[in-house]
Amino acid sequence: MAFVRTVLGDIPAEDIGPVMFHEHVLFDIVPPGSCEDRDAAMPVTERWQIDYRSNDTVANAHQQDVDIAAQELRRFSADGGGLIVDQSVAGLARDANGLAHVAKASGTHLVAAAGTYTRPYLSSALIRLDIDDLTARFKAEVTQGLDGTSVRAGLIGEMGCSWPMAPFECRALRAAARAACETGAALSVHPGRAPHACEDILDIVEGEGLDLQRVVLCHMDRTHPDGSGIQPLLARGANVEWDFFGIEQSHYWMGEVDLPIDRDRLWLIADFAQAGYEDQILVSQDICTKTRLHHWGGHGYGHILRNVVPLMHRFGFEPGLISNLLRDTPLRLLSLKETPV
Ligand SMILES: [Zn+2]
Repeated sequence: MAFVRTVLGDIPAEDIGPVMFHEHVLFDIVPPGSCEDRDAAMPVTERWQIDYRSNDTVANAHQQDVDIAAQELRRFSADGGGLIVDQSVAGLARDANGLAHVAKASGTHLVAAAGTYTRPYLSSALIRLDIDDLTARFKAEVTQGLDGTSVRAGLIGEMGCSWPMAPFECRALRAAARAACETGAALSVHPGRAPHACEDILDIVEGEGLDLQRVVLCHMDRTHPDGSGIQPLLARGANVEWDFFGIEQSHYWMGEVDLPIDRDRLWLIADFAQAGYEDQILVSQDICTKTRLHHWGGHGYGHILRNVVPLMHRFGFEPGLISNLLRDTPLRLLSLKETPV
């Protein structure tokens, strides 16, 4: 029987409702070396401006309060949500025990992630590890526990890749692919911001023997904003993810990209589904700022369920496609093969 490894233990995949495959529940994405006030006030009068230029405000880029997180997850459950994957890997203040606490307090299933983020976020001790050390580390994160806890990861990644890839990132990606082969966990990759980044990533992980059907390429929204370049990734068997749902604006805080809005994302997804790839597509919101949470006046983890699903219906998405996007594909990817413990 297929099962999913949550922070509170292994559970049958068939018992799980709609999934948000790429979120951050407890997170810290403050750029290393920043000396701004991490706890500066975020008054409601400034909310829109802070949200629009979200990286300008350090205080917006971390949320580590377990009570607030639990409250957000209760809202997600009330919107019909079943499970959230927190892809906060090492470097993003991963808090395995905190996630277990939040899952228990909210009654919402949570999956934690093995792996490492981009090089600037990592300690020098981590960066020194060789490929065998990293493989052993990622494997142990799935099979034994994260960061000295007994809370195990149910996914590897988002593995952080810059452009061009740092030598450490390349080593870590190869190690993650090896650990995915050995544990059966799927691999999620945050690609560099360049049109060829995803192809290069697939070459690397394929070189390690990983079936590309077990690979998810994140952030299509900013990597391939108009959709060009995605079809060859799908043709190789990889899964692609639009995970900026809820970001409905022109300004992109990390560079010059004409970001799509939810409607554009759905039209691209409809086209790729029509072309035969409907079971290789994931949708999520990649929440990693306070202003996107209910507590600070944002849309919360339930935005897709509450607002985007009605749009899908309006745009003529078949029930089978909606089920693939929200449940079947993410659960196929999260399903592990080994015997549950
Ligand atoms: Zn993310």
